[in-house]
Amino acid sequence: MSAIRKKSKGTLIVLSGPSGAGKSTVIAELLSERPDIYFSVSYTTRQPRVGEADGVSYCFVSADEFEGMIERGELLEYARYVEHYYGTSLKVIEEKLEAGIDVLLEIDVQGAATVRQKCPGAVLIFVMPPSFEELSRRLHGRATDDEQVIEGRLNRALEEFRQIPQYDYLVINDSVPEATQEILAVLTAEGCRVEQRIPLIPMLANQELVK
Ligand code: 5GP
Repeated sequence: MSAIRKKSKGTLIVLSGPSGAGKSTVIAELLSERPDIYFSVSYTTRQPRVGEADGVSYCFVSADEFEGMIERGELLEYARYVEHYYGTSLKVIEEKLEAGIDVLLEIDVQGAATVRQKCPGAVLIFVMPPSFEELSRRLHGRATDDEQVIEGRLNRALEEFRQIPQYDYLVINDSVPEATQEILAVLTAEGCRVEQRIPLIPMLANQELVK
């Protein structure tokens, strides 16, 4: 990025969507296009799925450890999702945003509502599957969760869909490259906001006219 485009503060980007919407795949593609974005690794009390490494997909902790973080005020937001805690560490995010680095959070609708209150400048994007049937098919296609867990996630998805109006942007993930391109377009537009470019204004407005 050229020096003139460097932002004074990073943008906090929130990505939500039901389990099975394909957020992780879209995020992987997004980060390969925009490696400058810092992806915040959440804390959770749920068990790792096959292929999930500690500190990469999530930081996996016990309920006692998680409750300790809540008590010490170390979380920007947290939520209970289908019987487990999920939360975002505050300190790292603050440091990155202050350094002008964009930060991406992949969090549920309750967490997004908290971020909206605490960080009014955050950009909230909801990722939808193309249909409820497709969502069900994707969740059943994961060999890791039993029927009861899948049912809980499908019910939860219906509740989450009702929260879509609190988001700024809605992206339908029927094709990962297209969904990624839409998110990239949102981020480009957000970076062009006047408030992101305030430092440029005096530089341009105070020019002497050359006769
Ligand atoms: P999963 O168990 O499928 O990885 O995630 C379940 C849900 O928890 C998803 O909707 C995901 O976005 C959400 N989630 C993951 N990390 C966080 C977090 O740090 N905070 C909140 N509020 N939700 C999270």
